[in-house]
Amino acid sequence: MSVEEQLQDVRGKITKAAQEAGREPDSISLVAVSKTFDAEHIRPTIAKGQSVFGENRVQEAQGKWPDLKAETPDLELHLIGPLQSNKAADAVALFDVIETVDREKIARALAEEAKRQGRSIRFYIQVNTGLEPQKAGIAPDDVGSFVALCRDELAMHVEGLMCIPPVDENPGPHFALLAKLAEENGLSKLSMGMSGDFETAIGFGATSVRVGSAIFGTR
Ligand SMILES: *Cc1c(COP(=O)(O)O)cnc(C)c1O
Repeated sequence: MSVEEQLQDVRGKITKAAQEAGREPDSISLVAVSKTFDAEHIRPTIAKGQSVFGENRVQEAQGKWPDLKAETPDLELHLIGPLQSNKAADAVALFDVIETVDREKIARALAEEAKRQGRSIRFYIQVNTGLEPQKAGIAPDDVGSFVALCRDELAMHVEGLMCIPPVDENPGPHFALLAKLAEENGLSKLSMGMSGDFETAIGFGATSVRVGSAIFGTR
């Protein structure tokens, strides 16, 4: 299948999963994860109306998105990979949504940069639902205090929570935990679900799914 056909296929699956869950298909945003793919691979999806994209590395995104954003107004770019403090300024300048706020130091750096640059970035707190030592994210027990720090003390626009479940586990309980934590903290957005499990995530309330290989092919 072509990239256009794969995009159409994913959209169809989102609609079907939403209907099966008794949800409005429009309530789920598709973040097309274009990491490792260059502008030539991305343009056909923009031509098909895709406007929200995810990248996991600041430097790689800087190489392709300024041009693509100049060509098409109103594209929305999400950072979905780990961020170092020394890249906070670059990330704030390029991305519209940063989904990987995962520690106090980066939260402070992002809040300060957003203010300095006058950028109204929306943020997600990344939660390490599986408490995996090698994975970034706030431990479930610490989400309440971390959301309070970001939202109340740093005045960040915290929109929701994001997670990446352990690869070798049933993702359902992780999605359910993320949904519960969001509700407890008065957050309405849930970024969860990738190519292998986005339909499951929709069943658990995902408001955005981050889909890469199912659209662009294997990396
Ligand atoms: C790469 C990536 C995705 C997309 O993964 P696919 O399995 O290719 O859909 C989603 N979320 C994050 C955080 C990623 O790094």
